[in-house]
Amino acid sequence: MQLWLDGRLAAVQDASISPLAHGLHYGTGVFEGIRAYPTAAGPAIFRLDDHLARLGRGAEALGMAVDLAALRRGSLEVLASSGLDAAYLRPLAFYETGGLGLDVAGLKVRTLVAALPWKNHLGEVQAAQGVSLRTSSFRRNAASALPPLKLCGAYVNSVLAKLEAARAGFAEALFVDGDGFVVECTGENVFLVKDGVLTAVEHPDALPGLTRQTLLDLTGAASRPVHLHELRDADEIFLTGTSAEVSAVGQLDGRFFQAGPVTRELQARYQRIVHGEAETARGWLTRLEVPVQAGGRP
Ligand code: PMP
Repeated sequence: MQLWLDGRLAAVQDASISPLAHGLHYGTGVFEGIRAYPTAAGPAIFRLDDHLARLGRGAEALGMAVDLAALRRGSLEVLASSGLDAAYLRPLAFYETGGLGLDVAGLKVRTLVAALPWKNHLGEVQAAQGVSLRTSSFRRNAASALPPLKLCGAYVNSVLAKLEAARAGFAEALFVDGDGFVVECTGENVFLVKDGVLTAVEHPDALPGLTRQTLLDLTGAASRPVHLHELRDADEIFLTGTSAEVSAVGQLDGRFFQAGPVTRELQARYQRIVHGEAETARGWLTRLEVPVQAGGRP
């Protein structure tokens, strides 16, 4: 498998990264999860610039200088060189060498983009039956402690919650705050439908997801705080994320739900959009147009 690493394509096995990388020890990095889909005009990346802008906000929070234009080129180059038409792109920028103190000024920054074959992280069974959700005993990182960005270290919180859910036999964990308001899942935002009305769960500690924003742009649905009681009383619940797309929830804490008409309609609409069959004028798809030159920048 190939990577784009610090400006050029490299084989994963040839990539050299220090075991003393600051990011490895402290999680001082920022990443994105981006998807490319097959379209009639070849593979295209969904909302590439919006993902990179969010990565840029994380880098800024970490005081890290990252060349987003280079990461953009890297994303296109590594996708082209992978030969994949459906791929998961993983850009990452992290502090590497220069010291293990907590002052990050002057540390070396490494950047990479990997292109991985696509696999639904919630699983095919979940896709068919709906995701089983369990309210987590873990609180989501509070925005006042860790800004809701894709900072590497922040994901330990998600891993702990996911492990707890898995140990109890559930596919995914739902974070709820100390007052019982729904935050998000470990890697997805939450929507509900009640009496035909679609609502996006809003919470200051949740990542502002791009899939969530896509559905808000399309539907004009309300975005507001939602209590766990209200969520449990919904007719339909679904999760959104680059990886999860629009995933119906089949179960929440032992209460069962169906993938209802609103969820199914939005699932189909989202698929048409990411495959370049609808809403193309919105400019959400970036097609592969860069000529790839062996081993380096165009
Ligand atoms: N919340 C968290 C914690 C996430 O990691 C993700 C995935 N990036 C999302 C929500 C959904 O965001 P997006 O739609 O931009 O993928």
